[in-house]
Amino acid sequence: MNTHHSGIGMTSQRTRGRMIERLRKQGIVDEVVLGAMSAIPRHIFIEEVLASRAYDDTALPINFGQTISSPFIVARMSELLRAGSGLGKVLEIGSGCGYQTAILAQLAREVYSIERIGPLLTRARVRLRQLRLGNVRLKHADGLLGLPEFAPFDGIILTAATAHIPPSLLEQLAVGGRMVFPKGSQEQFLCVIAHNSQGYTETILDEVRFVPLLPGILKG
Ligand code: SAH
Repeated sequence: MNTHHSGIGMTSQRTRGRMIERLRKQGIVDEVVLGAMSAIPRHIFIEEVLASRAYDDTALPINFGQTISSPFIVARMSELLRAGSGLGKVLEIGSGCGYQTAILAQLAREVYSIERIGPLLTRARVRLRQLRLGNVRLKHADGLLGLPEFAPFDGIILTAATAHIPPSLLEQLAVGGRMVFPKGSQEQFLCVIAHNSQGYTETILDEVRFVPLLPGILKG
């Protein structure tokens, strides 16, 4: 169902409940992920003029030419990152509006999230504080460098597309850990890299569309 014109109740638990039911129909089965998405209000991460579309099955603009991923993509990537078990330390590259970060905060013990666009990070910080998510640390930096001082990570998620993962970032993935990201430039596919004692294995999944991962940082 489309909620554009529902007005009253748009931001309610019931609206979120409908989003969860849709995610189930789309094949999301991890109850922990569904529980996190049921708990976190998505509309507070979206500009007021678009907030009525917050629970629609679509990506939306969040300024600076960036987008918040659709609920399905957030659920799918979270499910792939968890692979059915609890996460310790997670690194997110591309905080954007902070919605995926808030979901990760429910799935992991500690979340580190890096964003290159200063003003986006400032706003994400306000929202995450509002939700009292105390296990999140945000950093204004180039995510391609990762956060070697806090490595290794049990999970690394990139919310912007790249054709190549730098070796220095792969090295920050713990043995037993997983990296989930959109791989490619024009054509992109969700990619999971698992790190086990034998090395790294790559699995290519759904075709997707993300903004590109860019080098360097942007001040506000
Ligand atoms: N998960 C975010 C997605 C935002 S879009 C959300 O739901 O809102 C991808 C984000 O990645 C953008 O905010 C973009 O600025 C950021 N990004 C792109 N390249 C980056 C890099 N090298 N380091 C950190 N962030 C980056």
